[in-house]
Amino acid sequence: MADVRRTKLLIIGSGPAGYTAAVYGARAMLAPILVEGLQPGGQLTITTDVENWPGETAIMGPDLMTKMRAQAEHVGTELVSDIIASVDLSRRPFVAVADSGTVFEADTLVIATGASARWLGLDSETRLRGRGVSACATCDGFFFRGKHVAVVGGGNTAVEEALFLTKFASKVTLIHRRSELRADKTNQARLFANPKVEMVWNATVSDVIGGDGVTGIVLTDTVTGATRPIDVDGLFVAIGHDPATSLFKEQIAMDDEGYILTAPDSTATSVPGVFAAGDVKDKLYRQAVTAAGMGCMAALEAERLLAHGADAHVREAA
Ligand code: FAD
Ligand code: NAP
Repeated sequence: MADVRRTKLLIIGSGPAGYTAAVYGARAMLAPILVEGLQPGGQLTITTDVENWPGETAIMGPDLMTKMRAQAEHVGTELVSDIIASVDLSRRPFVAVADSGTVFEADTLVIATGASARWLGLDSETRLRGRGVSACATCDGFFFRGKHVAVVGGGNTAVEEALFLTKFASKVTLIHRRSELRADKTNQARLFANPKVEMVWNATVSDVIGGDGVTGIVLTDTVTGATRPIDVDGLFVAIGHDPATSLFKEQIAMDDEGYILTAPDSTATSVPGVFAAGDVKDKLYRQAVTAAGMGCMAALEAERLLAHGADAHVREAA
């Protein structure tokens, strides 16, 4: 028979949004259960220095997430190492079924499932993933000591990945499809000052070359359409993320890109009692501190709903 767990507050996701919701939920005596998912600690576990978390001049991403996890547990959150495989938001209590078969019944739900790396969509990229193609410099940069690697993308992730890779690689070529980076100016200044970095503007990667490992890539000029191969030993794809919302499709209002819609100044979704926090609903800021802030809001809103009922505060989703 399935293990059935009942809770006032179920939190799905263990990034900054989930852990912060857990801290506030536990301190409000909601005895939350948090399901951690495939990536305990979320996206920050695959980065190095975090330099914009308040109170920390610099802290390693995994260390920050370990601290958040410990705090959530310390105040009374039950942390569950499992993955939610399906949800039913049409029932009260809400039902979430995990990979292990455990069934969670929840009076309120915080969705904090975040986002995951986007790929270029090339067959050659898929074939060579893990054999020279990566979306995580922190994880794989070490393997490219003394080699030439390419990074594709123009946002903060691409720039930080490129800078991180300069610690190992002899040369880092950053390829961007436009003539201006999206990354913030501080990151850009660091990038342009690094002698190991070469920029390729107005280009996309149209093929990855290699058998057992990457030996090169083909660039397509976005202005002229001309193609040219370059020799590289590795390719790091850093072109953004997709929100992890497939679980909730057709059960909750989302925008065209799959980000969950919430009411203005609120984490309330189109389903009363379900709240969304962090990158799963935010494509504008996508920062650890904003995700944590939304996690706080979600737990406070869940607490108020449980205390006063849906009419007290739940607004229509935008
Ligand atoms: P995430 O961190 O994405 O966590 C999502 C969580 O949901 C994960 O724990 C996952 O396991 C879980 N999950 C997903 N699906 C399920 C499921 N079905 N069942 C159970 N759990 C599930 N921001 C900064 O502020 N400063 C930085 O320096 C910084 N550096 C970054 C570097 C990199 C390389 C990247 C990729 C991002 C960086 N960011 C940075 C952005 C920051 O990491 C994110 O904004 C933040 O982690 C979002 O938090 P979140 O809680 O919304 O989701
Ligand atoms: P992002 O900001 O969305 O940038 C994605 C980049 O990839 C853009 O430059 C985009 O080009 C490019 N791109 C998208 N699809 C492409 C394709 N198919 N082919 C080629 N290029 C493509 O994503 P991100 O860099 O992962 O950052 C996500 C969020 O996390 C951001 O809010 C960022 O600020 C934050 N973050 C913050 C820090 C920090 O504060 N230190 C560090 C890392 C990430 P266009 O520019 O042309 O659209």
